[in-house]
Amino acid sequence: MRRKLLPYCEERQSKTDMIVLHAVAYDVTAAIKSFCDNKVSSHYIVAEDGEIWQLVGEKKRARHAGVSYWREIEDINSHSIGIEFCSKSLGQKKFTSAQIKSGIGLIKKLVKKYKIRPENIVGHSDIAPRRKADPGKAFFWKELAKEGVGFWYNLSDAKKINDFSVEELLEIIGYDTKDICASAYAFCRRFLPDKVTEVKEVTELINNVGRANDELLADEKFLQVLRAVAYKYCSESKTPCKI
Ligand SMILES: [Zn+2]
Repeated sequence: MRRKLLPYCEERQSKTDMIVLHAVAYDVTAAIKSFCDNKVSSHYIVAEDGEIWQLVGEKKRARHAGVSYWREIEDINSHSIGIEFCSKSLGQKKFTSAQIKSGIGLIKKLVKKYKIRPENIVGHSDIAPRRKADPGKAFFWKELAKEGVGFWYNLSDAKKINDFSVEELLEIIGYDTKDICASAYAFCRRFLPDKVTEVKEVTELINNVGRANDELLADEKFLQVLRAVAYKYCSESKTPCKI
């Protein structure tokens, strides 16, 4: 691991119980320059060759989440460790196998160290669905879940949780439901990436993260996967809901 500590951090206001995963469309050097220009930071950044850099000590509150929300928490920077993954396509194309290997190793270590619960491992787009599209539709959520990190779903669970609206299902998982179309699209980015349109230019994705339309909100596959994921969170998270 390499270290280049940035001063853009402060004391945490709570214990560390979340991990936020990001993608950044630069290599490590350009990403650090951009962080310095904007006085932001993240605890770790994983280069395309798999090398991990530490930018902020874990005890400190780094500045990576911005205005965000997850399961009633708003100061997510105080609660979380932020990890960036370099990706020219901003996570629209597969991450390198070296990155996946290092990323899984780092995340597993942190989960164990801080006893981070699966429902608290999130993407930036999950906690800021109107503003952020990273870590992107090609992020390795499924591989992480196979390693016991975070949740994936069993489609057969969908039928166990029928009587809820899209809004209620998103809320059960943890999303902010002020903007259902944005949160539903963030949900797809993570659990149903085939429903997310690929854009050519990364700048396009930065300026417009996209939203679910009425057709997607009524799509049978979307509803099934949403129910199956909500069931998983409902039955296995620390704050289970009544089904
Ligand atoms: Zn991000």
